[in-house]
Amino acid sequence: MKDGFGRKINYLRISVTDLCSLRCIYCMPEHGISKICHTQIMSVEDIEQAARAAAAIGVEKIRITGGEPLVRRGIVDICRRVAAVEGIRELCITTNGVLLEKYAAELKDAGVSRLNISIDTLDSEKYRRITRVGDLETVLRGMEAAKKAGFTDTKLNVVLLGGINDDEIPAFCELTRNEDIQVRFIELMPLGQCADWDRERFITGSAVLTAVPDLKDEGISGVARVYRLPGAKGTVGLINPMSGHFCPGCDRIRLTADGKLKPCLHSDQEIDIRGLDYEATLAAMKQAVLAKPDGHKMTDINPSDSHRNMNEIGG
Ligand code: SAM
Ligand code: SF4
Repeated sequence: MKDGFGRKINYLRISVTDLCSLRCIYCMPEHGISKICHTQIMSVEDIEQAARAAAAIGVEKIRITGGEPLVRRGIVDICRRVAAVEGIRELCITTNGVLLEKYAAELKDAGVSRLNISIDTLDSEKYRRITRVGDLETVLRGMEAAKKAGFTDTKLNVVLLGGINDDEIPAFCELTRNEDIQVRFIELMPLGQCADWDRERFITGSAVLTAVPDLKDEGISGVARVYRLPGAKGTVGLINPMSGHFCPGCDRIRLTADGKLKPCLHSDQEIDIRGLDYEATLAAMKQAVLAKPDGHKMTDINPSDSHRNMNEIGG
């Protein structure tokens, strides 16, 4: 289905929980969040119904995210049901990787097509500092388990944090030399926990090209501009929501864990679908697509209009 600005909307991101096993400094408050009451969280049936309604308006790709999707009870069942919805060609998950060692094989078997794994540093101490509680080794083992389970074309999400991990840009790019992965550098967006951080933390994707001048431009793919080191198996993607708004090519809507459809990540407009039957959910999906704004007005000094943290919206 097309939105009011002629953009084809074929991608739904579903947050299945706002809880997380990590406390990344830019995303989660140190002491976590007050848990959304169980009755407010979408049930497995609600999620499946939303996926069916989305498919009926032309959504072909669904991403399961969070919070940390793998801490949601019944995550494998959720994936199996969503993957089986007619019309859904691709089911992806964005995860911090902590529970991948446990779940990778089951997720593959449930029909998950691809994984994005978030890893902002390759240094154990820094990883602990960024995530407050995480253990890098666990995530590295999770990445191995994903490979073993047969996942290919995995993407590694690296949020650029000025003065914290920009010195690791070359090392991250090197990971693509011998592996068919995409390292995606994402510009930090000033919302939630990092909305009022020092401006020096917000560096642009151009820092990657300065640090690794050998990268060759291979063009746009979705929201990323893709580059490759000469002869490398994998690629490097730059996702620049701040320095290069991709709103004109936006193809997605979002669903929060408490059942609110969000036409735009950075707008606080929300449409509640919890408790609706299929027909009403379908109508709400259409309403969300038609309500998509032409773009957001966020800059590094003008925070997002969304009042939610990223762990609630799903990134
Ligand atoms: N817990 C999972 C994970 O970390 O991959 C899924 C949810 S997380 C909110 C999704 C993605 O959003 C992660 O790659 C995370 O690094 C990114 N993210 C969170 N806050 C962000 C921010 N303020 N700006 C840019 N990316 C952000
Ligand atoms: Fe959790 Fe992902 Fe947010 Fe980190 S970025 S706190 S892993 S939801």
